[in-house]
Amino acid sequence: MADTIFRRIIDGEVPCHKVYEDDKVLAFLDINPLSRGHTLVIPKEPAETLDQLSDESAAALGRVLPRICRAVIAATGVREYNVLENNGRGAHQAIPHVHFHIIPKPDREQGLGIGWPAKSLDAEEGRKLAEQIRAALT
Ligand code: 5GP
Repeated sequence: MADTIFRRIIDGEVPCHKVYEDDKVLAFLDINPLSRGHTLVIPKEPAETLDQLSDESAAALGRVLPRICRAVIAATGVREYNVLENNGRGAHQAIPHVHFHIIPKPDREQGLGIGWPAKSLDAEEGRKLAEQIRAALT
C-alpha cells in the first residue's frame, strides 16, 4: 500500500477523529476544516484516484456516503453542503489516496468556494464526445 498519511490513519499509526468505520470504509474529521463538520470519507483500498477504485470499494463508499452526510447535517445543524472528490495534483488532490470531502456550507464565507468557468456545449461536439465516452464504457 502506498505510504500516504491516510494509509497511516487506516492502520492506526496516526490518530484521527473517527466518525465511521467498516471493513472497507473509514470516515474522520478533516484536520484543516473549511467549515465545522468537514469530514473525509475514504476507502481502505489504496487507490490513488477514483477511476482506479474497484467496484466493490466504490459500492461500499456509495452505500455509506449519504448516511454520513445525514449524520454531519444532524451534528452541525447545517443543511447545505458540498461533496468534493479531487483526482490528480492539477485537480487539487494533495493526498494520493481516494477521499470524498463532505463540507458543510453554513454561509457564503465558510465552506467550499467554487470557481465555475462554464462554457456552452456545441451540439456536434457533444454528439461526438458522448459517442466516444459511451464507446469507452463498453
Ligand atoms: P485533497 O486536497 O487531497 O482533496 O484534500 C486532502 C485533505 O486531507 C485536506 O483537506 C487536508 O486538510 C486533509 N488532511 C491532510 N492530512 C491530514 C491528516 O493527517 N489528518 C486529517 N484528519 N486530515 C488530513
